[in-house]
Amino acid sequence: MMIPPILSVSDLTISFDKKRLRDAVQGVSFSVKPGEALGLAGESGCGKSITGLSIMGLAPKSGKVTGKIEFDSENLLDFSPKRMRKIRGAGIAMIFQDPSNTLNPVMTIGAQLAEQLRWHRPELTKAQVREICEQALESVGISSPRERLSNYPHEISGGMRQRVAIASAILLSPKLIIADEPTTALDVTIQAQILELIRDLKSTLQTAIILISHDIGVIAQICENMAVMYAGTIVESGVTSKILAAPLHPYTKGLLNAVPSVRSPNRLLESISGTVPPPSQQFSGCIFHDRCQFAMPECSQINPKLLQIDGERSVACHLVTGAY
Ligand code: SF4
Repeated sequence: MMIPPILSVSDLTISFDKKRLRDAVQGVSFSVKPGEALGLAGESGCGKSITGLSIMGLAPKSGKVTGKIEFDSENLLDFSPKRMRKIRGAGIAMIFQDPSNTLNPVMTIGAQLAEQLRWHRPELTKAQVREICEQALESVGISSPRERLSNYPHEISGGMRQRVAIASAILLSPKLIIADEPTTALDVTIQAQILELIRDLKSTLQTAIILISHDIGVIAQICENMAVMYAGTIVESGVTSKILAAPLHPYTKGLLNAVPSVRSPNRLLESISGTVPPPSQQFSGCIFHDRCQFAMPECSQINPKLLQIDGERSVACHLVTGAY
């Protein structure tokens, strides 16, 4: 039986002031099904985080968001701010890179979790709230959850703070979790534990995950599908294992060449020269052409479209699809 996506984003465009010559996100489309994870990869400034924030209805007010963000078959862009507040937490939750940005330093962990529960489920008794909070902490591997509820965020380690942030995200059993660089601030052993935790959410609760990361290695560990973003557009998307085995877009190849591999410890890591162009920079043709080692004359004239090249892969590159 075909399972429909829980989230379908179509032609998402996010534009800011008119002085910018290019929109921050331009016509981006992707979907994710229950129990699956989609990775959004790319360098900083490629539009990954603002895409995640726009799904939560948290894009900056100065930004104009157009297209469709269908969650559970309803377009979130049609929702009132009040209705979006109800969806946040209960339907879609977000985990950020730095849990200090999520947790209130002057409230105990228990008070923060309880506040969120009471707002969404006012019918719960005090004892029920406490029990659900303890269960949430336990489910993310926090020992002695009852005692931890009385701790303030500064009284626990960074890894445990991220676990609390994840407990807060799953408190109301959302159908979708957006994790924005959830392990970047953590050391490698804690990073592995947090990724394991996110993988568990996917398989045991059938939660859909969007994992935003500059680190393709992190995406490879969790995500069945991935989309590579560059300068506000998707340049390659498809099944993660196939993209990693044979990347087609020069930008994807560049990102992979910059990732260390235990299988080839002597391989020289390569960086992609240059930086992501800011929205104020004028360009014509392929936006990657001034950094692309395979650029051809037509690349500076014609902007490549994202075209499906087989049932499982789409690429925006003249080298792969020919110039259209
Ligand atoms: Fe490189 Fe041309 Fe492909 Fe752009 S279209 S990625 S410049 S080869």
